[in-house]
Amino acid sequence: MLNSDVTWFPLHLRGAKCFEAPEPARHFAEGYGVQNVVFVDDEVKCKRSVRQECNIFINTRCTYWDAMILPPWLCKSPPEAILQRLLHEVAHVALKHPPNKRVVSSIAGLTIQLPSSPWDALRGQEAECWKWVLGLRKANSGKYELLMSAIEGWYLAHTYEHKDWSDLPEAQWAKYNKGTLPPDLWLSVPQWVRDEFRKQAQAEPIESLQRTAAGAVEATSQLVSQSFGFTILFDSRRRCP
Ligand SMILES: [Zn+2]
Repeated sequence: MLNSDVTWFPLHLRGAKCFEAPEPARHFAEGYGVQNVVFVDDEVKCKRSVRQECNIFINTRCTYWDAMILPPWLCKSPPEAILQRLLHEVAHVALKHPPNKRVVSSIAGLTIQLPSSPWDALRGQEAECWKWVLGLRKANSGKYELLMSAIEGWYLAHTYEHKDWSDLPEAQWAKYNKGTLPPDLWLSVPQWVRDEFRKQAQAEPIESLQRTAAGAVEATSQLVSQSFGFTILFDSRRRCP
């Protein structure tokens, strides 16, 4: 386990259960200027991934990963959700985004000014990062798969305490959403999200999801998973190189 009491850790993650990310993930992130890639598994201290300067801290708990089964993410498994969170944070560094003033880390915890709709987290710089992630998946699927294997290896070897999610998309969906997985996931997201992201996202449906019985399309308003696994960056005094 990593020593999370060092100064480059965000205040809210000091003392959290942290682990070194697998080597291929660190190597990839370093190529974009990231200095440290930390995996966090701490139910109390870590609810989402964050970046501090050029260090990224990835939430490896997948309690609400059903939100990332939806487009534009289309994640097939918890390790893929972790991978996309990781890539999203790398994108913030690669795109040299300034810190997000709506997120503040303190010893007391992470304070977040939530948007009025969870879909608003797909706008602005967040949208740029997700397009970067989706673009990588589409244009460099070999690299994406290689990183996936590394994260899957870590995930399978890691022992989670109080694992409160399912690895199967259908079962995870049923935990927090009414009805079965919609056969056309794109119809479950707002029109503007379809317009904005469909080109970047992989067009083909997820195999395991295709097998799902034809359930009625769930309206977006029925989604109860408000907690998208992604990140937010917060204020920092120093700048990345
Ligand atoms: Zn972000």
